[in-house]
Amino acid sequence: MTSMAMTVPYVIAWSGEAVPHRLVFVPHRASGGLRLDYPDPLPDDRIDDLLWARVKLNRRGEPMWRLLNSRRQRRCMERHLCQVCGRPAGDLETGRIWWVITETAFRAIGDDGGLTNAPPTCPRCIPESLRWCPQLRKSAAVYTATRAEPGGVLAEVFEPGLSGVALPVGHNEFVGFGEFARHPFVLATQLVVQLSGMRPEPIP
Ligand SMILES: [Zn+2]
Repeated sequence: MTSMAMTVPYVIAWSGEAVPHRLVFVPHRASGGLRLDYPDPLPDDRIDDLLWARVKLNRRGEPMWRLLNSRRQRRCMERHLCQVCGRPAGDLETGRIWWVITETAFRAIGDDGGLTNAPPTCPRCIPESLRWCPQLRKSAAVYTATRAEPGGVLAEVFEPGLSGVALPVGHNEFVGFGEFARHPFVLATQLVVQLSGMRPEPIP
């Protein structure tokens, strides 16, 4: 109900952006093994050896409230853009980036850092996003971070079946950029960044 009154966050996927596609395993000369691919490969499908989900950017149809648009999610992470309004989420003076951290989207590493697949949220959008989402209100905390460096992806994982058929065997699994042996078997859907220099902040 609440979603009707709320503007659709920048990062949310729309039904008209889905691109129906098939996936297959094909021989890969460089590795001598099989590699996941589209039957009609395009140059934009891969980034640094990782195959990415195809999506459009038209925001047509209905918002899919539980699904992120892979390309907008990646853009938010790479450019430190707010997942709600799409504008920069970094503080111009300090360079610190604002983040709403939830238990489900964060894995701590060390005392002041960790991995997350949730993009930043700018200070202007933080109060509203906390107000609208009951789950955030319960388990969220507001932080700023000094750095957010890409460290891997969330991916759908496949195994080759008979005749190159791609059999789904894993959903939303973290795959690090350094885990090269896994790369031929995954379809990336979200970019994961490693935050460092995290500091708790009051709600802006
Ligand atoms: Zn914002």
